[in-house]
Amino acid sequence: MTVIIRRDDKFNNLLKLNLRSRYNQKRRSEDEVHVSDIIPSSCIRRQYYSRKFPEIDTISDESIYHFIRGESSEFVITQLANMGVSQAHLEFDGILAHPDIMSDESVVELKDTLNFNRLNITDEKFKSYLRQLLYYLVITGVERGVLSIRYNTKELRWIKSDSKGDYFFQPHDAKGPFTESWSVYLPKDDIVREILKNEMVRRKNLFKNALEHSDVSILPRLSQAKRSSKCPKCNFYNRCMNEDDETPEAQEIANELDIMDISGVIDFRPFQSEH
Ligand code: SF4
Repeated sequence: MTVIIRRDDKFNNLLKLNLRSRYNQKRRSEDEVHVSDIIPSSCIRRQYYSRKFPEIDTISDESIYHFIRGESSEFVITQLANMGVSQAHLEFDGILAHPDIMSDESVVELKDTLNFNRLNITDEKFKSYLRQLLYYLVITGVERGVLSIRYNTKELRWIKSDSKGDYFFQPHDAKGPFTESWSVYLPKDDIVREILKNEMVRRKNLFKNALEHSDVSILPRLSQAKRSSKCPKCNFYNRCMNEDDETPEAQEIANELDIMDISGVIDFRPFQSEH
């Protein structure tokens, strides 16, 4: 009697095929603009290309892994939280939004990450999570939000990088995989609400305009500081950087000062407080 074991990619290919058909079903029409299209960190140009050239936006084994991780984590945490409505369908000035959990008093945004570091307001990724939650607070008119980040890996500290790769070490007191949540308070009458509202509407108009006229040049590329982590992995790199232009106005937008970097706009405290 023999148990026969062979490497077999059929199951993985089935997952890829079905994930592609799911993406295709959810393929957004050019009239729809979602919060995820216009959030500065997700790259508005990449969102444009994936609408116009979905066939180039390939699905890798890694995409399947991230998709399953994100969806399953969100499903379980939403059930455990047992509060409010999950994935409510909202519309604001032509922008569609689906916050993970929404109740009368608060909006909860769930994030799941493989990041080795424990994030805070100095990290671009944290700021991008926060901005998405703030957009939802603006759209809903709700003052209180929760940003809940689930870390999948034990904490590692970066030492250095060289041509062979990155070097990390794991301290004895490294934090394990865990979930860390942050309460966010944006008062109803705060000027930041108005500024974020204008930012959203301006980016939405720009995005729609580019789609309508098939003109990506009016959309900003990622700023230089954000390119190293995202652009090399982008399926549209050559088209974006070597074939298509970027207008001077779009370049200005890419280099505008982020409202979160203005002194006094964010009061971040990494410990429990009243608000
Ligand atoms: S190469 Fe960079 S800037 Fe261009 S679309 Fe891709 S992520 Fe955006």
